[in-house]
Amino acid sequence: MISAANYRPVDWNSIHSGEYVYEVGCWKTCDGGFCCKHDHPDFDFQFLPKNGSVIMYMEDEYHYFAKRGQVSSTPAQKITLDFGGPRPLVVYHVFCGLLGRCDGVMEKPFLCKIYPFMPILGAQGELESLWHASIFELTFELVKSKTPCTVFNKLESYKKLWTDNPRILDPLRHPYVVFYLQAIKYFSRSYEKTLLARSDLMRKSGKEFWSEWEIAYLRGELFDLDEIKYELSKVYRDLSQTYGDFLAPVHELPVA
Ligand code: SF4
Ligand code: SF4
Repeated sequence: MISAANYRPVDWNSIHSGEYVYEVGCWKTCDGGFCCKHDHPDFDFQFLPKNGSVIMYMEDEYHYFAKRGQVSSTPAQKITLDFGGPRPLVVYHVFCGLLGRCDGVMEKPFLCKIYPFMPILGAQGELESLWHASIFELTFELVKSKTPCTVFNKLESYKKLWTDNPRILDPLRHPYVVFYLQAIKYFSRSYEKTLLARSDLMRKSGKEFWSEWEIAYLRGELFDLDEIKYELSKVYRDLSQTYGDFLAPVHELPVA
């Protein structure tokens, strides 16, 4: 559960030294690491980067790594969603072309440490559900296509493991992180609803599907941003009633 001690700034050290998924060598089961290479035979993207992966950082996480010189030299793309709170939701997208060979070069962001699952925590820090950590994985499921990732079918066992051993996810039990995890849930739900309603896309398969998907995705047609903003404003209101303004810049947060 979220304790009063978690009013302090997020402890990114604990988050990044935590171990969440125990699948050493799983890259040998998916032809060399699909999650780092995205070399699926049906991906023939014109604009999305190939031969690598786009990694995503929460805003404060990105600054934590940047201060320590632990982000790629590739320019980051800052994505901002103003949902009406004191600070917008901000994520940084950065291309990673290390193809799985990041050990000793760059510290892995949280997303890579927890792949292929994304635990969604509720307002008290309870484990609500598990979602996909990648839009590709979620899409494979929605179009009923097989993912190259061999770990995703262990979702139920990880849900049980993290429920039975809540300390594993304790580093994430801060309202700032809970807010971003909830944002992933609402983005995923909106995406699921919008994609399934796109019969023009859902009729297609293979390369044809992914080529048209890429355009629709990049045009922002596969999310309902107004709905997501509305949901995020509710999440912010609920969390801030309990924890105060957890989105305030770090120097304004009360010290535990
Ligand atoms: S997490 Fe999945 S996609 Fe990534 S290396 Fe392991 S099996 Fe492959
Ligand atoms: S940081 Fe490492 S694990 Fe993450 S995408 Fe890059 S190579 Fe893969």
